[in-house]
Amino acid sequence: MTGRGGQGLRADGEAEDRARAGRRSRGSAVRTGSGPEVAPRRSRPGSGAPGGGPARPVGGWPRGAGAPPSEPERVPARRVSLRPRAPDGPHADGATPRTRADASVVEADRPRRRTLPPLPPLPVWEGPVGADGRPLVDVKGMLPSELGALVTSWGDPAYRGRQLFEWLHRGGGASFDAATALPVSLRGRLQAHAAPQVFELIQRQADPVDGTVKYLFRLGDGQTIETVLMRYRYGYTTCVSSQVGCRMGCRFCASTIGGLRRNLSAGEMAEQVAALNRDLADPARRRDPALFPAPAADPGAPEEAEPAGFDRVSRLVVMGMGEPLENLDAVLGFLRVVHEPAGAGIGWRHMTVSTSGLVPGIDALAAAELPLTLAVSLHAPNDELRDGLVPLNLRYPLAELLAACRRYVERTRRRLTFEYVMIDRVNDLPEHARELGRLLRRMPCHVNLIPLNPVPGRDLHPSPAESVERFRALLGGAGVPCTVRRQLGLSIDAACGQLRRRAADPAPQ
Ligand code: SAH
Repeated sequence: MTGRGGQGLRADGEAEDRARAGRRSRGSAVRTGSGPEVAPRRSRPGSGAPGGGPARPVGGWPRGAGAPPSEPERVPARRVSLRPRAPDGPHADGATPRTRADASVVEADRPRRRTLPPLPPLPVWEGPVGADGRPLVDVKGMLPSELGALVTSWGDPAYRGRQLFEWLHRGGGASFDAATALPVSLRGRLQAHAAPQVFELIQRQADPVDGTVKYLFRLGDGQTIETVLMRYRYGYTTCVSSQVGCRMGCRFCASTIGGLRRNLSAGEMAEQVAALNRDLADPARRRDPALFPAPAADPGAPEEAEPAGFDRVSRLVVMGMGEPLENLDAVLGFLRVVHEPAGAGIGWRHMTVSTSGLVPGIDALAAAELPLTLAVSLHAPNDELRDGLVPLNLRYPLAELLAACRRYVERTRRRLTFEYVMIDRVNDLPEHARELGRLLRRMPCHVNLIPLNPVPGRDLHPSPAESVERFRALLGGAGVPCTVRRQLGLSIDAACGQLRRRAADPAPQ
């Protein structure tokens, strides 16, 4: 969930300049609901569904009866189980007896990898529509220059675009009427033609020990998403969701249980950051000890009560619900928006995008040449084990995934992060550490070992501290830099998708 960014191999100001230049030049005009010409949130051919489906419009509300069912979609099934073996006595905490799960993946009907059919297309997302039935503009996912083009098409001067951008990302409100710096006529047009700006807060839960705050939001079409705020010594990091649900099917992850509903738009991702920034800036919230516990209670918190920079989100990880590389256009649009100094102002090196291993998406992200950190959710040192934990491995096995990782490093000169969820006696044995060491020996990378955040109903348990330490020592001894990630938000179900699951199904699972 939390993501420790890897260090870059070089200071990559060049890539940033290139990205800025690209940003200035991209996009052609499209017609919106009101008839204005606007620079669109682009949809590059082939990039909408790197998993194999055709390019789709990103984000949005399924419209009318024609919307396709948002069934959970999975990589074609194979009977694989991480089968429990002999009972192994009670839990240390006295809970129900634990069974010995091990790495012996039971296989049957194993398909030949290369003959797998492509992933089905993503559910179509057409975006919210206005009273006139036309699509609303995703203004919160647009750059100042794009907003400038929008407002000039309405006859307003371009600088109003920048004013609007600042209001959206540093102020914002339920209604454009609150944007009092803008003329009344412009506010009226925005109210009629722009997508809703803020979410409804359904629930906000704070971990009393480490200060992690988990937000459950309701979107304009009633879907719910989670965003997490984490506090570190150096400031606040937010964990952003990129899709409603997920179709990757990882065995240990709650986000995937209900399948994928739809992609999020760039604006819906940007609003997650803006909403948390509003919360952090609200003096009443800051005085609430439930939301902002005293630093003394938090071993990871800053020493001083309110050091500089603790009034806003300064880093982000796209590690919430969803597979960001499946929604890459919108994710890139979002990252460019929150990078803007006039908005959230988050530096590229303070951003991490995490993938379960979507190879075409990794190549597409590399092509964007942004100096952010790519995190790859590895979780296993061999195909047999990874097939059972991350079913996407059936489509993109380790050799292909690591080849894409190498291409990414060559192109961006950025060191990778690998995430490895530590699951008791499934993937945490000494032979796994040795095998992982051999696999990553020559890769410029950093491995984050993450104790499993248990998901109800899944018979997987976090590795005990001794196993994690043994694994870390063996991997480090093999020359692979690795750290054990601090586990945040345990008491508030902060692992991907858990709060949303609980809200959907409050009964014990
Ligand atoms: N789909 C992307 C990003 C979202 S998941 C990906 O897979 O990387 C973000 C990270 O949280 C991934 O490394 C994922 O494996 C991890 N994760 C999911 N469920 C978890 C759990 N129950 N405990 C610990 N980590 C979990």
